[in-house]
Amino acid sequence: MQVSSSGADLSVPHGRLGEIRHDWTAAEVRALFALPFPDLMFEAQRIHRMHFDPREVQISTLLSIKTGGCPEDCAYCPQSAHYETGVAAAKLMDLDAVLAEARKAKVAGASRFCMGAAWRSPKDRDLEEVCAMIAGVGALGLETCATLGMLTQGQARRLKAAGLDYYNHNIDTSPEYYGRIITTRTYQDRLETLAHVRDAGIRVCCGGIVGMGESPEDRVGMIATLASLPVHPESVPINMLVRVEGTPLAAGEALDPIAFVRTVAVARITMPASVVRLSAGREAMSEETQALCFLAGANSIFYGPKLLTTANPAPDRDTNLLDRLGMVPMSS
Ligand code: SF4
Repeated sequence: MQVSSSGADLSVPHGRLGEIRHDWTAAEVRALFALPFPDLMFEAQRIHRMHFDPREVQISTLLSIKTGGCPEDCAYCPQSAHYETGVAAAKLMDLDAVLAEARKAKVAGASRFCMGAAWRSPKDRDLEEVCAMIAGVGALGLETCATLGMLTQGQARRLKAAGLDYYNHNIDTSPEYYGRIITTRTYQDRLETLAHVRDAGIRVCCGGIVGMGESPEDRVGMIATLASLPVHPESVPINMLVRVEGTPLAAGEALDPIAFVRTVAVARITMPASVVRLSAGREAMSEETQALCFLAGANSIFYGPKLLTTANPAPDRDTNLLDRLGMVPMSS
């Protein structure tokens, strides 16, 4: 038994906190979630400082390169064609327009430019256009990330050949709760795409969403799944559900912000060397909650007024908050 500085039982084998391991059990993750808040935050801070400068925040910008009309039925998503959310479907953006946005993101201080397309999986002719975007964005000196839905092994290899640095594909929630959120593809489909991305040599961005009506045990299951992947995702976005009118989750109850901060802290402790991104949901989050998330080990944000189709804090609000916290952008 490992005992924290205040004497709380961490129920993790002695000396293993801070170690990069892939054999996390649900019992260990559950014990971390159950720690008294001061112990949890202390451990998260301690482990964060082993791998990162705690003042630094990685800044990414996310652009929707193909919006709406998605055939998948993700219950949280305003871009699903299954729900009436007022999001108009648009075609894939053209290369010049994407590059113009990437240049703006770079000037605003982003080190990574993420391109999101509302597809179940990309068609080959679309992939060709996306590969040109990846090459163009990379040539601007930005890291590239894409989120395009499910990929075959061959598609992952094509993206790698175009110079893609990161691929985002979230597991969303626990294996047990997944079927309540999405019925048009399986958890196993998700894991297979992640394996194709990893095998192609692309870095993985993979996390989940909380506040979708899941139980505390589902949050345990989500983190245990992420922390038990053969290689930890280099980037772990933790999203707070944005309840968009028209989606099945619109009327759900908001999650206690402390439960959100705990999820960030447990992600930090179990995946010590990964960048943990405070992702969707910041627009409705108090600055104090965001500051607690940074203390819990979050060290990345999306910067820019929009996250795909939902609002994000205005850039000057983020700059102001980071200044007041004495935090600075991480260089890539
Ligand atoms: S989350 Fe992605 S896959 Fe799911 S409906 Fe939205 S755009 Fe489609």
